[in-house]
Amino acid sequence: MNIILLGYPGSGKGTQAEALSAELSMEHISTGDLFREEITKGTPLGLRVSEYLAGGKLVDDKTVLEVISSKLEKPEIQEKSKEGEKSEKEEKFVNGFLFDGFPRTVEQAEALDSLLSSKKMELDAVIFLNVDEADVVERISSRRVCPKCSKVYNVISSPPQKENICDACGGELLFREDDKPAVIEKRMMVYKDLTEPLISYYHANGVFYEIQARGDATAITENIISLIKAEISKS
Ligand code: AMP
Repeated sequence: MNIILLGYPGSGKGTQAEALSAELSMEHISTGDLFREEITKGTPLGLRVSEYLAGGKLVDDKTVLEVISSKLEKPEIQEKSKEGEKSEKEEKFVNGFLFDGFPRTVEQAEALDSLLSSKKMELDAVIFLNVDEADVVERISSRRVCPKCSKVYNVISSPPQKENICDACGGELLFREDDKPAVIEKRMMVYKDLTEPLISYYHANGVFYEIQARGDATAITENIISLIKAEISKS
């Protein structure tokens, strides 16, 4: 099963992807996390993309697609598509990919379609996390992330046990540079111009589902899992 989570910056894609990938044994692919890791490590890719992230602009499609196709080429990922063999890696990735923050343009969506079909894979669902713009702006202002393991916290609704310290790995939590108000404004504009058209794109493809994503994160995860069990897995 391959699923895309779609929604505004701050709509909870990262939090939901983390919970769902653990619950459903899916491989979580977050292009934002991948870019941030490259930036932290100071790799050539990180240096190339850091200005885009800092300014709230989208990284060019070519770079994004290179990153995605190399992710899908990883030997352990390919292994999952082999029928009839049971290895540990296969167990881990057996339920496919959960894309978070990708695709973000119609061009990326078209390229993903070709990439999946070249690998004889299908896209099963695009789940749109529907929240009001005002809510996400508020949510983003209380978001903190762990730079070491990418776990996301909200200092009001899901704070870490120890202030500013990641429960999972002990890393010191940060406020994302691109969550600052000026950059958020730009990211919202970019979302409306370039990413929102994906709603009609996937409507037309017959794989679009919508979830009300306001409120308690655990309840939202449960709603998504029920949707997957009731609708998507039977289609
Ligand atoms: P995110 O963590 O998904 O909010 O992404 C943070 C930033 O990474 C975005 O504002 C973009 O600069 C970049 N980025 C992440 N995913 C993509 C993508 N699919 N296409 C272009 N840029 C991306």
